[in-house]
Amino acid sequence: MRFDVLTLFPEIIDSYCSVSIMKRAEEKEVFTVNTINPRDYTENKHKKVDDTPYGGGAGMVLMPQPYVDAYDSVEKLSNSITVMLSPQGEQLNEQVVLDLANYDQIILLCGHYEGFDERIREIIKPREISIGDFVLTGGELPALCLIDAVSRKLEGTLGKIESAHDDSFANGLLEYPQYTKPRNFRGYEVPEVLLNGNHKDINEFRLAKQLERTKQRRPDLYKKYTKK
Ligand code: SAM
Repeated sequence: MRFDVLTLFPEIIDSYCSVSIMKRAEEKEVFTVNTINPRDYTENKHKKVDDTPYGGGAGMVLMPQPYVDAYDSVEKLSNSITVMLSPQGEQLNEQVVLDLANYDQIILLCGHYEGFDERIREIIKPREISIGDFVLTGGELPALCLIDAVSRKLEGTLGKIESAHDDSFANGLLEYPQYTKPRNFRGYEVPEVLLNGNHKDINEFRLAKQLERTKQRRPDLYKKYTKK
């Protein structure tokens, strides 16, 4: 898997990917993350990548030339998809993540300021993805959410220790409550069943907690799960 990220702030992407699980997985060559800065492609002599909106209004709009030229410079693999991070896109969720994990290359377009000149959408025709109904200043955090979530689905990113098998959404339910040492913390005890080593009992307890939690917190997921 290869992620190619078009961003005016590559240091944000590089910084997140240079620590912890992301770093280890890149070292193991499970995936690579490349950044391309549209500012390096601008034909404007002052290196500008944005300008005021036609028709007036606040803020600056990203000009098409630096973005489209930067996009054209990216080598495209045959099994590739282009994603524009946008609050106007379909919402990122487990299903979208699983679908994206089937590609060999994801090219990510991060906006900034007031967002993209509409012709960038018209020319590149990306899939537009949002991380929620709120507006951030740039597409870098949404791109990192996507890279992180997709890379967790790739063989080799997570070791046994971080296995995603029981994570929330993996089987349609939220995860059960987790406990670690000590057994008693400020009078709060770890449930007895988790201490007795009986895996049948533990699994039953965990599934019951998953159902209880999902019913309480996410009735929409619970309904879907119990209808299956
Ligand atoms: N004016 C745009 C609008 O109202 O739709 C918002 C632009 S936003 C300030 C700048 C950039 O941040 C966007 O182009 C997009 O790349 C990114 N962004 C902001 N919120 C986002 C979200 N919820 N999901 C994905 N990307 C987002």
